[in-house]
Amino acid sequence: MMLGSDMRVVVLTGAGISAESGIRTFRANDGVWENHRIEDVATPFAWERDPRLVWRFYQGRRRQLLDVNPNSAHEALVSLESYLDEFLLITQNVDDLHSRAGSEKLIHMHGELRKLRCEMCGEIIDAMDDEHLQDQYVKCVQCTNERLRPHIVWFHEMPLRMDEIYDAVGECDVFIAIGTSGHVYPAAGLLSIAKDTGAHCIGINLDPPENVILFDEFHQGLAGELVPALVTKWMSE
Ligand SMILES: [Zn+2]
Repeated sequence: MMLGSDMRVVVLTGAGISAESGIRTFRANDGVWENHRIEDVATPFAWERDPRLVWRFYQGRRRQLLDVNPNSAHEALVSLESYLDEFLLITQNVDDLHSRAGSEKLIHMHGELRKLRCEMCGEIIDAMDDEHLQDQYVKCVQCTNERLRPHIVWFHEMPLRMDEIYDAVGECDVFIAIGTSGHVYPAAGLLSIAKDTGAHCIGINLDPPENVILFDEFHQGLAGELVPALVTKWMSE
C-alpha cells in the first residue's frame, strides 16, 4: 500500500501493543486481571461495594507505569503521525505509553491510569506524583470529596469521546488496528464502520482476531517488529 501524506488515517491500538512493553492486561478469556476477577475491581458496583480493594488494585496498576517504557511500535506511530496531515490514534489501553512516546493526536477511549477523577465536581487531575501513588485515597483539590476515583472507563460504563471517534472512522481512507482482539465493543465495531466507509483496512496482531475476514491486509506477528517495518514501507513507497 502507498500512503500519501494527504490520506486520512485512523489507528486503533489494544492490549497487544502494551504487552510488548511488559504491561499485563485483562485476559478476556478467563475474566481475570492480576489475580482479580473483573467484577471485583473494574465495575462501578465494585467501587461502591469495596472502594478500598478497587483503589489498591488501581494504585498497583498506576505505579507499574513507572517501570515500563514505550516500545518500537509506539515510536513508529509517532513517525506516522508526523508524516500525515490528518491522523487520529485511538487507544483502548489505559497506560500512558503512546503519550510518552510522543503521540499527540490521541484519544484514550477507556480512560487513563495517570489520571484521577472527582465524582462530585467532575475535576480530572494528572496524578503521578509520589503523594498520588500511595495506598491512601487522594482528596479532591476543588471540593470536599475525600476519595477520587481512577479516571478509567469500567465495565458497564460508556467509553469516552465516541462522537469524535465515529466521525474520524467514518471519514478515514485507511484504518489500522494493532494488537486488538476484535471482541471488545464498541472498539471492535470500528472496523466494520471503516469497512463500510470504503477505507483500506489493515490488521496487525499476534493471532488472527475474530473479525479477521474484514481486513484487506492482515499481518500476523509482534507489533514491535511489524509496525516499524510497515510504517517505513508505507512512507517510502
Ligand atoms: Zn471534586
